[in-house]
Amino acid sequence: MANREFYDLIIIGGGPGGLSAGIYALRASMRTVLIEKAAPGGQMTQSDEVDNYPGFKHISGFDLSQNFLEHAQDYQLEILSDEVTELQPGIDQHSIRLAGGDVLKAHAIILATGGSPRKLNVSGEDELYGKGVSYCAVCDGFFFRNKTVLVVGGGDSAAEEALYLSKLANKVILVHRRDALRASMILQQRLFADPKIDIIWNAVVTKIKSQDGAVHAVDLKDTQSGAQSELSTDGVFIFIGFDPNNQLVPAGVKLNADGYVCTDEKRESSIKGIFAIGDLREKYARQIVLSAADGCTAALAAAHFVETKRSGHIDMAQSK
Ligand code: NAP
Repeated sequence: MANREFYDLIIIGGGPGGLSAGIYALRASMRTVLIEKAAPGGQMTQSDEVDNYPGFKHISGFDLSQNFLEHAQDYQLEILSDEVTELQPGIDQHSIRLAGGDVLKAHAIILATGGSPRKLNVSGEDELYGKGVSYCAVCDGFFFRNKTVLVVGGGDSAAEEALYLSKLANKVILVHRRDALRASMILQQRLFADPKIDIIWNAVVTKIKSQDGAVHAVDLKDTQSGAQSELSTDGVFIFIGFDPNNQLVPAGVKLNADGYVCTDEKRESSIKGIFAIGDLREKYARQIVLSAADGCTAALAAAHFVETKRSGHIDMAQSK
């Protein structure tokens, strides 16, 4: 249960963006609550190794998320383990509803709900989820020691996860729909140098097949020739990007064509006092460090917003 009904700031989502926002909000003496339905840390907890967060040459995603959490807790950030089901913008204040029906109100809201893995939407994917189909190598890779696994995708996630899986599996086959990867050069170099990783270019998975209730093969289609083939595998790891978790974004907030929230440089959306940060926001690159930076910017801007509002200098009714 929340400590109070009215806050200066409510942060929804406890990934690197939300936790950073919490740290900066507490430093600005804002009455703040952060609400997270799962364990704090967000997607970062599922990264085996993070080696591009400045100040840490190598750290596991889990350890980095613990560091963020402990830092926020040091500032006495109130963290509520609950699900937000609705965000209602208001003229004077914004309100949110929790799964149990409780309503909390605040001058400002920071949405830090991140994104979810995109699905292939092929036959067998849903039915075999947890039985060989996975969207998280760190969570499920252990079950594929000395086996053959398929990784689908050509971005940073697919490359990183293929490299992680190659430490466990006997063989990793990366299937990409084009003839060039989207992943950063350093990851590509590591992929190409890894003797356990093979790449099948210009191919898509059209079906995931099972035997005795577990994945045993996929159907592939060559994107150039249209030729079909079957490939044996024990697991299918899908990393083809993700979609923003924008279900709570209220009507009136401007989204881009892909559903990401458009913000200004303060990370404020088209509704005053409602901010969006991290992977939910339209931006050039998606990185832990950028989510953390977004959290800082939004919290500082929210603090300024709350101060100005208290002094009566903001007309909430005026749209941006
Ligand atoms: P991404 O960069 O959007 O890459 C998605 C990949 O999946 C692309 O190669 C895409 O192919 C492919 N794809 C998309 N839909 C497909 C479909 N239906 N069938 C087959 N293939 C499909 O996504 P991501 O790798 O998850 O990365 C998301 C963001 O997080 C990026 O900004 C990335 O840089 C960042 N990230 C960074 C790190 C890091 O720096 N260490 C780690 C992970 C993620 P095309 O190339 O043909 O479009």
